[in-house]
Amino acid sequence: MKIVDIKTKVISIKLNKTFKTALRSLDKMENIIVEILTDTGITGYGAAAPTEVITGDTKKSIIGGIEYIKKHLINKDIRNFEDIMVTLNRCIEGNTSAKAAVDIGLYDLYGKLYKAPVYKLLGGYRNKLTTDITISINSPEEMAKDSQHAVNNGFNYLKIKVGKDANMDVIRMQAIRKAVGDNVNLLIDANQGFEPKEAVRVIRRMEESDIKINLVEQPVYAKDLEGLRYVTNNVNVPVVADESTFSPIDAMKVINMRAVDMINIKLMKTGGIYNALKLITIAEVNDIDCMVGSMMESKIGVNAAAHFAASRSNIVHVDLDVPLLCCEEYINGGITYNKNNIFLQAEDGFGITINN
Ligand code: MG
Repeated sequence: MKIVDIKTKVISIKLNKTFKTALRSLDKMENIIVEILTDTGITGYGAAAPTEVITGDTKKSIIGGIEYIKKHLINKDIRNFEDIMVTLNRCIEGNTSAKAAVDIGLYDLYGKLYKAPVYKLLGGYRNKLTTDITISINSPEEMAKDSQHAVNNGFNYLKIKVGKDANMDVIRMQAIRKAVGDNVNLLIDANQGFEPKEAVRVIRRMEESDIKINLVEQPVYAKDLEGLRYVTNNVNVPVVADESTFSPIDAMKVINMRAVDMINIKLMKTGGIYNALKLITIAEVNDIDCMVGSMMESKIGVNAAAHFAASRSNIVHVDLDVPLLCCEEYINGGITYNKNNIFLQAEDGFGITINN
């Protein structure tokens, strides 16, 4: 199965509701879809999301990156998968989103070649996941209403976006806890929005009140690993690195520093599944749990992340709700959702087809 061409196209997907974090606000998301064509007539599908404020990758840089990578992969044989992956990762520095899109397309072909779903080839630990659902930053009343709505729709783990105003965040969380009752788990994601001391103050206030939070994601600036460690050492709730940890080497750094309790793995940060497997192995041998999340990605990317999350045992939390936040279905097949459950499917590769 030799690669004969790699094509890209841009799709635009409307969101049900404006997505708001401490870093940005979005009404629609654009994704770059990759089609890897082979001499067998079988195509592999991948995708990337431009998330400039996190990865630094823009729509144009992703398309340019894939064009560059393409020159190195033409005529390569999927049966020599390691060679392809080494070439993909060494032919260009950075460009993790472009690499992820190609990596996802290559794993799709790998599964199709060996006639198995990718998650089975990677370890096949489970065929069902449970996801949280994201609540955007808005007024306390609106966030309480959105949270109540999510709980009524069967979600028992909410990921609450905070980090714009510490005092207001406490009021937001009080309103949410009051609306959803005591039996719902709450993760707060500050998207780097707090100063270290401010983070400790606000998290402690939440811990000492009846808000009860279960996880805190990326409380401080991504590059401030000392600040991250300070927060981790001064609160009881487990702290998760998101923007601070892209690569396996980043993971080694935060683990060696004991800067976090958990790592959020996203394929757009690692550059795809090949590096995500290295990262999770490093975490596992250091007894660090992981979660798997995504950017504002099409179902192609989220489906690939779900296959990765289903394959391994030390992934203890899943944040793959993006397909539930979209109102367009451009992509067929792949994972299915029922309330907060995600079901992996039995098709070869990632089982995705695309409407043209
Ligand atoms: Mg995050």
